[in-house]
Amino acid sequence: MGRQTSMRYVKNPPSNFYFPSEKEDPSVDGFVGLTVAEFEAMRLKHFISLNQKESAENMSVSQPTFSRILDKAHQKITQALIEGKDIRVYGGNINLKKGFKGYGCLNCDEEWKDELATKERKVNCPNCDSIKVYYLVREPL
Ligand SMILES: [Zn+2]
Repeated sequence: MGRQTSMRYVKNPPSNFYFPSEKEDPSVDGFVGLTVAEFEAMRLKHFISLNQKESAENMSVSQPTFSRILDKAHQKITQALIEGKDIRVYGGNINLKKGFKGYGCLNCDEEWKDELATKERKVNCPNCDSIKVYYLVREPL
C-alpha cells in the first residue's frame, strides 16, 4: 500500500460530503458530484502536494489511472466554476470513519465496497460491466 505511515488525513469529513440514497445521481440537479477517488486525488496532489508518482502509489493505482482520475476531478471543478454549481463529494454507502476498501470504475464512476479487494484481483464493474476498474483503498478519517 506504500507510504501510508507518512500520510496525513483530514480529521473530519468536510461538510460538503454527501451521501445520496441509493442510485440517486448527484450530478444532475444543480451541483457537481465528485467521487471519493476524485476528491482523494485532488487532496493528495494539490493539498498535501505529493508528486504524481507518490499520489498514485498512495491510492494504489497506476500513474495513468491516477492522471485520469485527477483529470476528471479538474473537469468537474471547472464545470462547477463556469456553471456556478455547488460541488459535493458523494460516497454512496461509504462510511468514511470506518475507511473503505473496494473498487472504482473509470467508465461510470461507480464505487463499491469489497473487503476481499486487492490490487491484483481485477473485477468487472457491477454497474456497467467495464473492465476499467481500479483498486480503491482509503484509511479511516
Ligand atoms: Zn462502471
